[in-house]
Amino acid sequence: MTNGRKGDVRPIMVAGNWKMNGLNADAEHLTQAILDAGLTPASPEVVLFPPFTLLPMVHQVAKGSSLRWGGQNLFWESHGAYTGEISGAMLRDHGCRYVLIGHSERRQIFQETDEIVLKKVKAALHSGLIPMVCIGESEQERLQGNTEEVLRRQVEAILPALGSAGQQANMVLAYEPIWAIGTGKTAGPEQAQEVHAFVRGLIAAKNPDIARKILLLYGGSVKANNAQSLFSQPDIDGGLVGGASLQAAEFLQICQAAHVVARGL
Ligand code: PEP
Repeated sequence: MTNGRKGDVRPIMVAGNWKMNGLNADAEHLTQAILDAGLTPASPEVVLFPPFTLLPMVHQVAKGSSLRWGGQNLFWESHGAYTGEISGAMLRDHGCRYVLIGHSERRQIFQETDEIVLKKVKAALHSGLIPMVCIGESEQERLQGNTEEVLRRQVEAILPALGSAGQQANMVLAYEPIWAIGTGKTAGPEQAQEVHAFVRGLIAAKNPDIARKILLLYGGSVKANNAQSLFSQPDIDGGLVGGASLQAAEFLQICQAAHVVARGL
């Protein structure tokens, strides 16, 4: 479901997933470097996902700016005896507007199922957070020709939480082929576009209005040298960046690529 006029309805977004990296000094430096680059309302929306421990620093440095940030995970209950977990309200308390849900590392290492992902998406929405839900196939699933089946299952699992027609999209999706995460292998722009169009089509089958408005980010070894060709694709609305988001200069070049694409739309 290609939409050649994406700029009319969908802004471009660049998100940085710091994963389990960084101490306070790193968070201060990276956040300040991004602010110093002078983000303006015309720039891509930039969202940082620091580890929980660095949220207070990001909050302190970026408060009042157009930069956004979020948690890398949350628990579906609001409070109580859940040692080691973090609730949506706690993230909101640190200025978070977003939360990452269902990253492939959580699905694979921490056995998060589609059911758990849906519970977390509902909890995030209930807390007033915008979930950024990650979906994507493994290398084996792709080689076996199961990419569409896997994505259909992952997308359909969260459709019950999708907003209603006439409203703004209440979540962001990030297509991250697992074989491209942290490997230096990237889906080619046309290959990624094909999958994004498929995913948008799955959403359109339930809600065409939201399908036009929802941001679909691409993730998987996005770097300064491939960002522009990926973000120029009609159904790719920006990127979720892992490794390259830890280096201010590289991350800012990716934001710059998004800015160039946004201006050309
Ligand atoms: C990620 O972990 O979300 C990611 C896309 O990582 P990388 O950019 O390092 O492949």
